[in-house]
Amino acid sequence: MKAHITKAAPKSTASTVQPDSLGSILFNDPPALIGLTYLACLLMTGVFLGLIPAIIAKRKGYSFFLWWLFGGVAWIVATPCSILVANKRKRCIYCGLESPVARYCYRCVRYW
Ligand SMILES: [Zn+2]
Repeated sequence: MKAHITKAAPKSTASTVQPDSLGSILFNDPPALIGLTYLACLLMTGVFLGLIPAIIAKRKGYSFFLWWLFGGVAWIVATPCSILVANKRKRCIYCGLESPVARYCYRCVRYW
């Protein structure tokens, strides 16, 4: 036999309860404020520490942006990797100019 389920009528609550806005959450809930501050600090630290492997990798001819992302997410891994990774930049065998593109010289305008 199926039980007859009746839906309870919604209770009318007092209209003094205000919906939570972001401002009221932040100022009335210290843990949320601490959490957001912690996240912001973590993000700022990642942005700045990520610059270190990004600059090292850029000087070796790799993508700055990708290494910056990698450094921001995992700085402690990205920095040794950027130091150990091989230098992609090459010197022209004809004039000695360091080229951003491997095996092509912009001054001599030829491959080697
Ligand atoms: Zn050259």
